[in-house]
Amino acid sequence: MVFADILYDLSLLLFPEPCQACGTSLFKGERLICTTCIYNLPYTDYHLDPDNRVARQFWGRVPLRYAMALLYFRKGGHVQALLHRLKYGNQPELATLMGTLLGERLKTNPDLLNIDFVVPIPMFKKSERKRGYNQSRLIATGMCTATGAQLEDRLLLKKHQTGSQTRKSRFSRYENMRLVFCLSADAHVNGKHILLIDDVVTTGATVEACALVLLEAGAATVSLATLAFTE
Ligand SMILES: [Zn+2]
Repeated sequence: MVFADILYDLSLLLFPEPCQACGTSLFKGERLICTTCIYNLPYTDYHLDPDNRVARQFWGRVPLRYAMALLYFRKGGHVQALLHRLKYGNQPELATLMGTLLGERLKTNPDLLNIDFVVPIPMFKKSERKRGYNQSRLIATGMCTATGAQLEDRLLLKKHQTGSQTRKSRFSRYENMRLVFCLSADAHVNGKHILLIDDVVTTGATVEACALVLLEAGAATVSLATLAFTE
C-alpha cells in the first residue's frame, strides 16, 4: 500500500463520506449511496408494466413504444435529494451510478433493450459548460455501461435556451419546446428504435418535443427511460 492510499483511508476514517441519499456515513466499499438506500429506494417496477403512469402521460401526445421511470419522486424524499445533487451538486459520478441502477433494472426485461441506440436529452451548450456536465448524458453513459447498449450523445441538439416555463400553459409550453430541439447534420435515424434518457419527467413537454423530432426524421419508434417521475 502506497503512502497516498494510507492517507486516503485515514481521511475516510476521520471524515467518512456521507450517503448522497440519507446522509449516513458510507462503509468501506460503498460508493455515493449506501447499501440500505440502494435496497430501499422507492422503485416503481414500471419496466414490467407497459401501461404504467409515465406511459399514460404520453397517450394522445406522442406515440412511445414504452416509457418508464426507475423511481417515484416525492418532495423531501431520498429521490429528490439524489436528483438535486446529481443535477446541481457537481456530482457527475452520482449521475453515472444512477444510470447503472437504471440499466440493471432494464436488463431484467430484455424486450425493453431491443433498441438501436440510446440518446440523452441534450442541454443547451452554454448551460452544459456552466454546469460542467449534462446529467442526462451521464445517466445514459451509466445505463449503456450496464446494458451494453450503444450511446449516441451528439445526435440530438438543443438550439435555444428555454426560460422558466412554470407559468405557461401546456399548449404554449409545447409550442415553445418543439422549436428548441433538432438533429445534428450527420444523424441517421431512419428505421431506428431510439431510447431517450432523462433524469426526471414532470410535464413531459421536453420528451414530447424530442420524440417528435426523431419520429419526423424517420425513426421507427422512440421509447423513454428516466430516473424518476413526479406524481
Ligand atoms: Zn443512504
